[in-house]
Amino acid sequence: MKVRKFLLPLLFGFGILFAKPTVYILATGGTIAGAGSSTEKTASSYEAGKVLIQTILQALPKQEIAKYAKLKSEQVLQKGSQDLTPQDWIIIAKRVNDLLKQRDVDGIVITHGTDTIEETSMFLQLVIKSDKPVVLVGAMRPSTAISADGPKNLFDGIVLASSKEARGQGVMVVANSNILSASDITKTNPVHVDTFKPANIGILGYMWNNKPYFLRISSQLHTTKSQFDISKISSLPRVDILYGYAGMDERAIEASIASGTKGIVFAGVGNGNISSSVEKALSQASAKGIKVVRAGRMISGPITQWGEVNDEQLGFITSWWHTPQAARIILMLALQSKITDNAKIQELMLKY
Ligand code: ASP
Repeated sequence: MKVRKFLLPLLFGFGILFAKPTVYILATGGTIAGAGSSTEKTASSYEAGKVLIQTILQALPKQEIAKYAKLKSEQVLQKGSQDLTPQDWIIIAKRVNDLLKQRDVDGIVITHGTDTIEETSMFLQLVIKSDKPVVLVGAMRPSTAISADGPKNLFDGIVLASSKEARGQGVMVVANSNILSASDITKTNPVHVDTFKPANIGILGYMWNNKPYFLRISSQLHTTKSQFDISKISSLPRVDILYGYAGMDERAIEASIASGTKGIVFAGVGNGNISSSVEKALSQASAKGIKVVRAGRMISGPITQWGEVNDEQLGFITSWWHTPQAARIILMLALQSKITDNAKIQELMLKY
């Protein structure tokens, strides 16, 4: 009787000590869930978001996974990421925040299309309220292709999300063995598996032999240090991105304003430069209370304040290190939080 009294709690304690972390997989679609024709394994055409997460998981080595994590999974959406909307980002973020509050969830992996993975990950980076790892993974080749990259990316994502090293690193994307920060990532090639690159500094680390090796820590504020709270919202204010080019005139700006946009991110040429007629139209928009962010059409920043453009006089904010699509998310969250002062929004561009 006495032996049992001591042995049972001891065994229970050992159980907890040796239990593997639980990684929760949220599936949203994309090429990682894509399928080509059943007879052709090499053709390039396929449909994204066809295969459910249970089937995708069957491609992973069960015994290997069991060494790192217990898995739970759920299909939250089933779309190509070109069809995802800001409402979808909010659905995903709320589910992630709810799951991470649970003591028995140690990390999250989100399977996602690669086209807009940088947008969803940046949004999550700013609204997730936990230090537990959140990792997004996708694939450039559909699940039915020879040498599909999805299973390896998903396996790496699970190992990363189960690791202690990944805690507090913010939201990450793991692709082609590289770990990238959501604060600094962009898709650079439409077909190659090595498509994700940091827009500015460098990868956070890499996966090798089923272990993450971190090289740096992002100094941009994120997750638990972010001020943004989406727990009570279901939509975000409209912000458009417009793209600059030689000979551009003000018609696209006028159309955006007429559609009721609350902000415009302008992907200008060079250091976010803008042709005279467009600059005038944007400055008039700013005077009417539409927030205008000068970003750049090149991959890397910084888009600096007061280069060739007098930002203060014209009422512009600059994106600094952010791609137009990342700057748009910061602006949407700022406007959602009723932050409308240009200087304050400028600070956010630098902080996040
Ligand atoms: N169009 C696909 C998507 O973003 C491409 C991919 O996943 O690689 O959903």
